[in-house]
Amino acid sequence: MEKTAETPSRGAKESEKAEEKTAETQSRREESKEPGKEKTPRIPDFSFAPTSSPTSSASLRLCGSYSSSPLTGLVAKILPLSAVDGPGNRAVIFLQGCDFDCAYCHNPETRDPNAGEPLARRMGVLQIFDSLRPYLPFVSGLTVSGGECGLQADFLYALIEGATALGLPTLVDTNGSTDYSRLGALVDAAQGFMLDLKAWDPELHRALTGADNAAVLANLRFLAERGKLAEVRTVVLPGLVDAEACVRGLAAILRDSGCDALYKLIRFRPQGVRRRFRDLAPPDDALMQALAELARAEGIRRVVVV
Ligand code: SF4
Repeated sequence: MEKTAETPSRGAKESEKAEEKTAETQSRREESKEPGKEKTPRIPDFSFAPTSSPTSSASLRLCGSYSSSPLTGLVAKILPLSAVDGPGNRAVIFLQGCDFDCAYCHNPETRDPNAGEPLARRMGVLQIFDSLRPYLPFVSGLTVSGGECGLQADFLYALIEGATALGLPTLVDTNGSTDYSRLGALVDAAQGFMLDLKAWDPELHRALTGADNAAVLANLRFLAERGKLAEVRTVVLPGLVDAEACVRGLAAILRDSGCDALYKLIRFRPQGVRRRFRDLAPPDDALMQALAELARAEGIRRVVVV
């Protein structure tokens, strides 16, 4: 099976074109996720705005069998349109709760799995798609992010199936802590996965996130071999992240699996991070380009520096 980061309906060339088109906006998105970048909403967050009745006939037609799903999930935010959370225009659902404690977390308000309003709201699948209904003609896919969306695996699966019923391929944006090898149906239903490789060394990973990276590395291999690894991201912090080891390790996984995932090398920026990280200097252009060159030399074909 051809391994591609895009939906199977798109060809590799079309995928590359789309990536080029969105490179600038992707960069803005990644920068906004990193320390020091203000989170400027691209469009109004309407997540908790009143919506039509979730049991309206239009809604029932919209979501088909998922209208009767009793599942609810804890939702932090919904963006009805985004050009920077995967290829094309995508709706993005941020699920609440995360099991990592990253030193440079870009969305700390999404970490608490027990948060209530106004930080998070319990919503049903139909309710979510009903709120997105006015935007669906302009949306080419769904991205589910977090927090860590894998912590609500049943609800994540229901969202993917609901989106699939609407003809929307779904990307899962994950920290990699969930064992996706045990969620084969979910993995097969998803368009692909976007995964963070924060450090290669387990102790470094623990120092940065509070957890080791055994699950992350296992997911990298599993998803790459399954043809579902769409994108990998590494934030480069000189002296704290073993970026070169990440590049070499990821390249070996991609080579072994024949996976053509996009690799984003993201420059650390110190503004807005926890106090103990504020004096760290961001990596210079020479280092970022050297890492990108190393990645290409190691066989990673699609590399982006942001
Ligand atoms: S994995 Fe969790 S703690 Fe880490 S940056 Fe993402 S939301 Fe924040």
